Amino acid sequence: MDSERYLTHSEKETIDLGRRFAERLHRGDCVTLFGDLGAGKTEFAKGICEHFRVSDIVSSPTYTIMNQYDGELPDGQPLQIYHIDLYRIKTSEELENVGFDDCMYAHNSIKLVEWAERAEQGLPSSRYAVNLRASADDDSERVVEITAIGMPEHTHLPLES
Ligand code: ADP
Ligand code: MG
Repeated sequence: MDSERYLTHSEKETIDLGRRFAERLHRGDCVTLFGDLGAGKTEFAKGICEHFRVSDIVSSPTYTIMNQYDGELPDGQPLQIYHIDLYRIKTSEELENVGFDDCMYAHNSIKLVEWAERAEQGLPSSRYAVNLRASADDDSERVVEITAIGMPEHTHLPLES
């Protein structure tokens, strides 16, 4: 499976990367975000939301599990974005209780899932996986790897710099 790899050097660069990545997203797409606490998952999600003109403040939904934002597509059509953080989810029962499965079936909405590994088999078979990790010797550097899983070939095009 092909992955694209990017280096960012600041919070702003990660937000910009998320914004440019979002240009390829369509209604119904799911983006799963992986990486330790502080890796930059929420910053990347902010960039995606910026692309879709979300005016709410995008913050980590760690305590609420799920946030919902109103955005719009480039043609002005309204678009709902779910931003989910599964950090606190420990069991599949808890996952069910927060309505995760229903959310994954929201075919008209874009889904952003932090700590997606907590959902195991509950993730859609077609999705993007974004892995972020801090670089060993620079506090503000992140390695960002984007993989299209179960998606058509054209979704693998690298971002223009
Ligand atoms: P996560 O959601 O993965 O737990 P956040 O996106 O909430 O992480 O936080 C990332 C933190 O790391 C922020 O405080 C941000 O300012 C800082 N940071 C430093 N360098 C970067 C970078 N290159 N990309 C993203 N965040 C960065
Ligand atoms: Mg977060």
